[in-house]
Parts: sequence; C-alpha cells; structure tokens
Amino acid sequence: MSKQIAIDGPAGAGKSTIAKKLASDLSFVYVDTGAMYRSIGLYMLKNGIDIHDKDAVESASKNADVELKYIDGTQHVLLNRDDVSTEIREEQVGKAASTVSQYPEVRKNLTALQKKLAETENVVMDGRDIGTCVLPNADLKIYLTASAEVRGKRRFDELEAKGEKADLPTIIEDIKKRDEADMTREISPLKKADDAVLVDSSDMTIDEVVSKIKSLYV
Ligand code: C5P
Repeated sequence: MSKQIAIDGPAGAGKSTIAKKLASDLSFVYVDTGAMYRSIGLYMLKNGIDIHDKDAVESASKNADVELKYIDGTQHVLLNRDDVSTEIREEQVGKAASTVSQYPEVRKNLTALQKKLAETENVVMDGRDIGTCVLPNADLKIYLTASAEVRGKRRFDELEAKGEKADLPTIIEDIKKRDEADMTREISPLKKADDAVLVDSSDMTIDEVVSKIKSLYV
C-alpha cells in the first residue's frame, strides 16, 4: 500500500514549496494538482475557448491530455506532450484554472488521474480537495494557510524578484477573490477535512513548516 500525505489550502500559502521539500526529504513523489488545473485553463486560453462556457470547456477538455513527468526529480507538466511547466505559472492562467476547475467533467477526469498516481507511488499531493475528495484515506492531511496579506506579500516579492511589475493591494485583492471562488464553488470546494491538521504559516519559515509536518508524520 502506497503512502499518502495530502496538503490543501488557499493560493499562496506555500503549499508547493513545502510539499516539494517534504517529498524530496522523504523520497516521495510530489504531485502538484494545481498544475493540472492550470494546464486545462491554458489549453482553453490557447484554443480561444470561452472559459465561462461550461459545455464548451467540458467538451474541449477531452482533447487536453495532461501528464506529469519527472526528470531528475523535477516535475514537468506536459499538455498534449508540450512542456508547459513555465507557461502555466502566469497570472491569467491561474485565474483560468480557478474558473475551469468549477466544472464537474474537468474535476472528474483530473481526480481520476490523481488517484491513479497515488496508487502506485508514495506521494505528497497538494491542492484544494486532496484530503476531502482525492485521497480521503491519506496517512496525514494538512490544511496549510496564512493570512491573505502575508500570502499577497510573498507573491509580490516573487514577482519583484523576477523583475516583474506588481501592485500589492491588487495582488491581495486577487488572492481574496480566488479564495472566495475556490471556497464557494459547488463541487469539491476548498475546505479543511475534519481530520486534517491546521497549520498557519503566517509567522513560520519554510523549514519550520516542513519540520512541523514531519513531526506529525510518524
Ligand atoms: O494551486 P494553484 O494556484 O496552482 O491552483 C490553481 C487553481 O486550480 C486553484 O485556484 C483552484 O481553483 C484549482 N485547483 C482545484 N483543485 C485542486 C488544485 C487546484 O480546484 N486540487
């Protein structure tokens, strides 16, 4: 039986950084489910499909083949065999992902893919519905959060470091909007699983969060 650690939480809480480090320390495979939703969002943007048209998105998503590949321990995201790992990080792709992730057909297909990955590998999987829907029997469930202000500031610093222009109040506003959309959607909304441990990373370093999770995984 493979081992499973589920990490859920809102955008910018540090899930991917922490999940990646944890997976590397434990020699588990890191599965970034947000990257899968982003790939579907990107496919729609690239093919001129209106992301607000549920039927059009659900139908088009049948032609979007998403695959996670690991090269030297690093996750690469393939969309119809093209490596889109960098492109999917763009702001507008994140917004598109949040919209298309509301649609049942999109969720059904990606959830099946995620469950399959976790059957054969020991995984640290991060997302919004991992503890509640994808891996309900995970060995450890973490709900990682931080205040919207702290999350916005982290994103702002990331953009600045990349030399991109950014406006902090706009970023915080966008984060709040994305939280609201993810928490209130009908299917698999973002919420803490009853048996998940809440970790607030607002005043913690990455290493502190990783150590805390390791201490819970015994
Ligand atoms: O985590 P990330 O910001 O990359 O995710 C992008 C979007 O994909 C989220 O805002 C959310 O709407 C959606 N998502 C989801 N379920 C997951 C992972 C991501 O609905 N398990």
